[in-house]
Amino acid sequence: MLPVDLPDTVRDALLAPLVDHHCHGVRRDDLSRAQFELLINAGGCPAPPGTTHFDAPIGAAIRRWCAPVLDLEPHTAPAVYLARRAELGADEVNRRLLRAAGVGAFLVDTGMEGAELLTAAELARHGDAAANEVVSIEQIEHDVAEMAQLALDYMDSLAEELTARAARAVGMATVIGYRCGLDFDPSRPSRGAVIAAANRRLSDPKEPLTDPILLRYLLWTAVDVARERGLPVQFHAGFGDPDHGFHPGPQRTDPARMTTFVKALQPIGVPVVLLHCYPFHRQAAYLAGVFPHVYVDVGLALTYSAAGSARIMDELLELVPFHKQLFGSGCHGVAETGHLGALYFRRALAATLKSRLDAGEWSAADAARVAHMIGSGNARRVYRL
Ligand SMILES: [Zn+2]
Repeated sequence: MLPVDLPDTVRDALLAPLVDHHCHGVRRDDLSRAQFELLINAGGCPAPPGTTHFDAPIGAAIRRWCAPVLDLEPHTAPAVYLARRAELGADEVNRRLLRAAGVGAFLVDTGMEGAELLTAAELARHGDAAANEVVSIEQIEHDVAEMAQLALDYMDSLAEELTARAARAVGMATVIGYRCGLDFDPSRPSRGAVIAAANRRLSDPKEPLTDPILLRYLLWTAVDVARERGLPVQFHAGFGDPDHGFHPGPQRTDPARMTTFVKALQPIGVPVVLLHCYPFHRQAAYLAGVFPHVYVDVGLALTYSAAGSARIMDELLELVPFHKQLFGSGCHGVAETGHLGALYFRRALAATLKSRLDAGEWSAADAARVAHMIGSGNARRVYRL
């Protein structure tokens, strides 16, 4: 599975169980080809007529690496792969792919939760792993908005619900970057502005929240809870999960855009975890390098760049402190994304470590230690697992 020869200690460290610090549920039902193709595309849209999402790096990767897990030859045709998937059934496919990922613990963002997605406990059972919850603050807001009658109820319930849900979670996650951009005003909004915005919100509570005032209010309320409970806050940045929608444009999801906000959290002591980040992973590495409370992964970028993932890993490791990088598959929708996230993480890190060993820059002991830190140790420390 690893693309290069490595000393045994390094190899063992790379193949040790991972902590996947950011993943979502996968579908429990059998999928049509159209449904499957939608779930392997970061935009969540069908391929143009006459084309297929299998003709993308992730499609080639599924045929190469997921096919053998379903007892098929590598590089099998998409139709054969999907026929075998249907023959085995979603339950068995999920079990095989998640188990083969070699993950010891899943930290599951339950923001996309729906009856058709496996819960955190089910992911754990299928993957033969432990699981913990990372609460989606926008999902909590959505639940509160549907129940509240008045702006003041809405504000009180938001704080209560965030506190209650955080009590059984290891972290909180936000998609503010995809809803209004990471260049949001970093200050706390005034109470008057929040009440006015909440009244507008309660007249149309079913829509996902996009109002920048309420998104900032929600985020700051979550930061207060995170501070109290010692929880990290995960920020989706750059190339990310398709289901969140409303992408404001790539340049507005550059994590460097929220540098002033990041600085404001430094004295508060709430860890900021930057997810995915591509193509801004160098900016993310820079932030993690200069701020003691910032952490980073390249999540989905490895799965979706597949054969090209080693370059991205190498670029991140140009600068990021080794104690600041985490592994997250960004798994969502189909178990293939969880399997490939772990696989390309290991392959990309193996290639990066190999180049440093060959150049005589690192010892084998250094490389093994760094592989353990990034693969699981840093997450265990940051999330206090
Ligand atoms: Zn996510």
